[in-house]
Amino acid sequence: MKSSRVYDVVIVGAGPAGSTAARVLAEKGLEVLLLDRKSFPRRKACGGGLVWRALKGVPAEVAEQCVEAQHRSALLHFASLKKTFVVTKNYPLISTVDRYHFDYAMLTTARQKGAVFLNRTGCRDVRIKRDAGKKSLIEVTAGGRRFLTRYVIASDGAVSPVGRLLGTPDGRILIPALEGSVRKEEVPVLEDLAPSPRFDFGVIPNGYGWVFPRRDTYCVGVVYYGRFGDRGKSLRALFRRYVRWLGLDVTLVRGVKGSPIPVSPRKEPADPGGVLFAGDALGWTDPIMAEGISGAVISGMEAANAIIEGDGNREEVFKVYRQAIKRRLFREYALSSFLARIVYHVPKLRDGCFSLYGQEIAAIIADVLSGFRSYRWLLFWPFNYLKAIGLFPMRYLKSITGSGDYGSRFDSR
Ligand SMILES: Cc1cc2nc3c(=O)[nH]c(=O)nc-3n(C[C@H](O)[C@H](O)[C@H](O)COP(=O)(O)OP(=O)(O)OC[C@H]3O[C@@H](n4cnc5c(N)ncnc54)[C@H](O)[C@@H]3O)c2cc1C
Repeated sequence: MKSSRVYDVVIVGAGPAGSTAARVLAEKGLEVLLLDRKSFPRRKACGGGLVWRALKGVPAEVAEQCVEAQHRSALLHFASLKKTFVVTKNYPLISTVDRYHFDYAMLTTARQKGAVFLNRTGCRDVRIKRDAGKKSLIEVTAGGRRFLTRYVIASDGAVSPVGRLLGTPDGRILIPALEGSVRKEEVPVLEDLAPSPRFDFGVIPNGYGWVFPRRDTYCVGVVYYGRFGDRGKSLRALFRRYVRWLGLDVTLVRGVKGSPIPVSPRKEPADPGGVLFAGDALGWTDPIMAEGISGAVISGMEAANAIIEGDGNREEVFKVYRQAIKRRLFREYALSSFLARIVYHVPKLRDGCFSLYGQEIAAIIADVLSGFRSYRWLLFWPFNYLKAIGLFPMRYLKSITGSGDYGSRFDSR
C-alpha cells in the first residue's frame, strides 16, 4: 500500500462541515487533504433550508451562486389547533438551496483556497499512534493509500464511520427523515399553502412535515422523532400521509430520499489523540427543528479554529475545541432537547403552550435559528411560557382537554 506525504489535517467527509473546515484551514496556509467516498457533486437527502445563522457562515460567492429563493417569513401550522403562526423578519429567515450544487460550491471554494480533494476515496481505517508522544502522527487509510497527518476532522455525516472505527463514545440519537421534490407548475395548490417555508405539526405523529419553496420546485419532507426500528420503517407511509394531507398526488413527488439526522450530540466532541468530530458526526443539529447545516458550518469553523489556535499542541487543540463545543452546543442542548420532547412526545402539552403563546414561541424559534437568541434565553424571559403555564392553570387545563386529533386541515388560515 502506498504511503504519502504528511498533511497538517486530513478531513473525512466533504459536506458543509468538512468543506468549511478545509476552507478555513487552507486559508491559513495549512496543508489540508479532504476526502469523500462519494463522487462530487453528489445528492444528499436534505430540505436545503438555510436558516439565517447558516447563511451567515457561508462564503458570499457560494450564497450568490446557490441560493434559489430567500424567504423573510415562515409558517408554523398546528393541525390539531387549527392555527397557523407566521413569523416575518426583515432579513432572509430561510433561504433555499439544492444540496447537489451547494455542497459542490462549498467544496470548490475550499479547493480554491488550496485544500487537496480526493473524490470517491472512502476512509477505511484511522489509527492513532498513542504511544509515540505528543508529536505522533495519525494514519488514515483511504482509497488504497495511507495518509499521515497530525489531525483528523471527522465530518463524515450522521453515520460517521470514523467514530465507529475509533470506537469513540457516541451517544447521539439518530432520527429518520425523508424528502422529495415536486415541480411548481404541477402543484398550483402549494402557491397558497406554502408561499414561504411551512412546518406542519400534528399531521404525522411524533414529528412534522415541511414544504420549502425553491426556484422551480418545492421540497416536501417529513421528520420522525422516534428511534429507528419503531415507526422508522413506516416513514414512507407517514410521508405519503403528509403529501396527501397537502392535497398532492403522491406520484408527483420525485427523488424521495431518506437519511438519519442526529438530534443529540456525541458524548465527546474530540479524541485527545487528534480527531475532532464536526457536523452530523458531532451531532450538532437543532433538537427541535432538526436543522443541521448551521451546526455543520459552525462546528467546521470551530474545529479549524481550534487547530489553528492550538498551534501544534494537541492537548491545547483538544481543550479549545471541547470548550467551544461545550459553550456553544452542550449548554444549549439540555433545554432544547427537553423542549423537543414536549413538542414531539407530549402533543397536548405542546398544543396547550402554542394555543396560549404560539406567536411568541414561533418568534423565539425563529430568533434561535437566526442566531440572535438561545433556547436558554427562555429561562430568563420574564413572560416565559413555562412560568405562564403555572400562572394560568385553568386556561391551560381547558386548552389541553380540547380536541387534539391529528389530521385536520388548514381551517384557521
Ligand atoms: C431529509 C433531510 C432533510 C434535511 N433538511 C435540512 C434542512 O432543510 N436544513 C438544514 O439545515 N438541515 C437539514 N437536514 C440536516 C442536514 O442535511 C445535515 O445536518 C447536514 O448535511 C450535515 O452536514 P455534514 O457536513 O455534517 O454531513 P453530510 O452533509 O452528511 O456530509 C458528510 C459527507 O461525508 C462523506 N462520508 C461518509 N463516510 C465517509 C467515509 N468513510 N470516507 C469518506 N467520506 C465519507 C459522505 O459521502 C458525505 O459527503 C436534513 C437532513 C435530512 C436527512
